[in-house]
Amino acid sequence: MILDLRQFENFPAHLSLRAQPGEVVIDYESVVQVNDAQLDLDIQKSGEEFFCQGQARASVRLTCARCLEEFDRELANTTDFIVCSKQWHDNHRDVKDNEDYIFFEGGDLQADVTDMVRQAVIISMSMKPLCSEDCRGLCASCGANLNEKSCGCKTEQTDERWEALRRLSGLT
Ligand SMILES: [Zn+2]
Ligand SMILES: [Zn+2]
Repeated sequence: MILDLRQFENFPAHLSLRAQPGEVVIDYESVVQVNDAQLDLDIQKSGEEFFCQGQARASVRLTCARCLEEFDRELANTTDFIVCSKQWHDNHRDVKDNEDYIFFEGGDLQADVTDMVRQAVIISMSMKPLCSEDCRGLCASCGANLNEKSCGCKTEQTDERWEALRRLSGLT
């Protein structure tokens, strides 16, 4: 996703950028694909720096950690970074400065902001995404998706927390 600052004559400016299909790739276990991603930014210019603040939004196809079915989820997160030339940054900013910087590629006021969108989306994602908070998961015996049917297997209600406790105390 290329942020092209040449289009603005006055600041502050507002910009909406939409990802091309397949442009944002998230290499994360539960992510099947990024369906769509968008970045909305307010941009303020100060000297040689462009301060960008806004929101990244994405529709992401995920795999449920319990029932393993795929589902789509809308994710959103704020993002905040500064765009400037690398040369200017190296001459004026301390490396210990903990702002997020993106540098122009060449001298032409264009910068690739795909990584900022990817990071914002990853941070908004839970480690174990669930298709619904009360997803019933899969039967431990026959593997049936318990959201769709009850299989009739005589298994104890498995609760992951109890499972872990049992394993710890050597009862299984
Ligand atoms: Zn599920
Ligand atoms: Zn079963």
